[in-house]
Amino acid sequence: MNMQIDVINLGPMDNCTYLVSKDKDAVLIDPAWDMNFLTHTLTQKNLTLRAVFFTHGHFDHVKFAQTLLEQTAVKGYIEAQDVALSGMDPRFLHVYSGQQTFEIGPFQIKIIPTPGHTAGGVCIQIGDALFTGDTLFPGACGRVDLPTSDPRAMRQSLIKLAQLPDDTRVFAGHSYGGKCSSTIGYERTQNPFMRNALRGEEI
Ligand SMILES: [Zn+2]
Repeated sequence: MNMQIDVINLGPMDNCTYLVSKDKDAVLIDPAWDMNFLTHTLTQKNLTLRAVFFTHGHFDHVKFAQTLLEQTAVKGYIEAQDVALSGMDPRFLHVYSGQQTFEIGPFQIKIIPTPGHTAGGVCIQIGDALFTGDTLFPGACGRVDLPTSDPRAMRQSLIKLAQLPDDTRVFAGHSYGGKCSSTIGYERTQNPFMRNALRGEEI
């Protein structure tokens, strides 16, 4: 069976949580706001949660997630520089630094560090899907005026993402304007922030 990706919109800020599954194994990306809904969905689909991944530590991407980690005894993977920002207890986390590849159940999960929105922000690549958090949105990039933000780092991160294959599917951390998915090929040619970054201009 192929990998399935469920897009789950939760909370008051248009956040997108992603449920990635293959056969009976699942991982969650940025579970936040409504853990009852997420545990119910896992049960309903008869899925076993293997791991939780966070794209970064902002509250709207981690809110109430620690409850889920406590209840399931599954680890929450987060980059070291965003642990404090997340406010989560490190006992429930698998903290790593920089580029990584994790083998979890049937999934090969690649971490691409993409600082800029936050210092420990990452994109998470599983197969042909790229979960971009608040780094890359359809037609936009994340804010770079927040604590630990860095506009120059964002520019480098956008350049890095532009090197991925055109048909890489992009799944962003919010559905601003009702849309949370795109492709790298589309963003490389149409996203003004990525285009500026590639031209060496301010984003
Ligand atoms: Zn954020």
